[in-house]
Amino acid sequence: MRCKKCPHRAAIKLPQHNISLCKDCLTEFVHAQVARAIKSQKMFTPDNRILVAVSGGKDSLALWAILLKLGYRADALYVDLGIGNYSIQSRQKVEHFNETVAQPLGATLHIHTLAENEGAGVKELATMMHRPTCAACGTMKRYHFNRMALQKDYDVMATGHNLDDEAARLLGNVLRWQTDFLEKQTPALPASLDGFAKKVKPLYRLSEREMAAYAVINKISYIVDECPMAKGSKMLVYKEVLNRLETESPGTKQAFYWNFLDKHAKAQTDSGTIASHDRQRLTPCQTCSQPTSMAICTYCKMMAKARAHV
Ligand code: SF4
Ligand SMILES: [Zn+2]
Ligand SMILES: [Zn+2]
Repeated sequence: MRCKKCPHRAAIKLPQHNISLCKDCLTEFVHAQVARAIKSQKMFTPDNRILVAVSGGKDSLALWAILLKLGYRADALYVDLGIGNYSIQSRQKVEHFNETVAQPLGATLHIHTLAENEGAGVKELATMMHRPTCAACGTMKRYHFNRMALQKDYDVMATGHNLDDEAARLLGNVLRWQTDFLEKQTPALPASLDGFAKKVKPLYRLSEREMAAYAVINKISYIVDECPMAKGSKMLVYKEVLNRLETESPGTKQAFYWNFLDKHAKAQTDSGTIASHDRQRLTPCQTCSQPTSMAICTYCKMMAKARAHV
């Protein structure tokens, strides 16, 4: 099987695009898709400072690598959740990537360790707060990502969500008709009026498979295992269902999410609204001073509950 773009042997077949590509052309294809995402969604410019949320997985590390290769000013934040071996290994992957790829290119890795700063790992904190682990984890990660962006003056926060993640999330939101969440499911959310930096997802045009191939071809060493807390999650079920549909009918995931984005953009143009979500006026949290729409932010409420438990 030959590469569609050059005489080399193809390394991957992409049925949804009806092409096969060699290693170099796949790398070029991925870079071009990210560049297109950044441009079409007006995510950021080379002058902006970007903070990437890295987990040690293929998508976030590949995103950091791609942004640096494309010449953007991208630093990263890793939150050490303290989930046994999973956190030990994922932190090693992030630190290795930082030392071998990011630091030599002038980028900075920030690390926030829950056990040191919050006094326990996320599982233990969630138990003390009487919250499901993933709900507590989501709040913690969002809080520290926002806080770091504000404290260090980053213009944009970027996450490594890919097409499979976004299509699965869309399916979940549609199945429950969660219109508030649907409203927010765009690859670029504007900055809030008084607080948070813009949030972007530059990998939304690329599938899980394409990202895995990119990471392997470009020798990015990442943690392959999922977080053990993800076991039994609805998102994994939605991904499985979408993968079955994709096998039967290549291009389904892409059509599902991209057509949603087209309709969403058109609806906003027709109604003359700009994304109003997330743009509500925020005030400083009475406890930690981070911007919030309430008197005390969710993170501080949760931490108060955890401390009361001790
Ligand atoms: S699966 Fe849950 S606990 Fe694990 S990283 Fe994701 S949100 Fe956090
Ligand atoms: Zn080629
Ligand atoms: Zn607070």
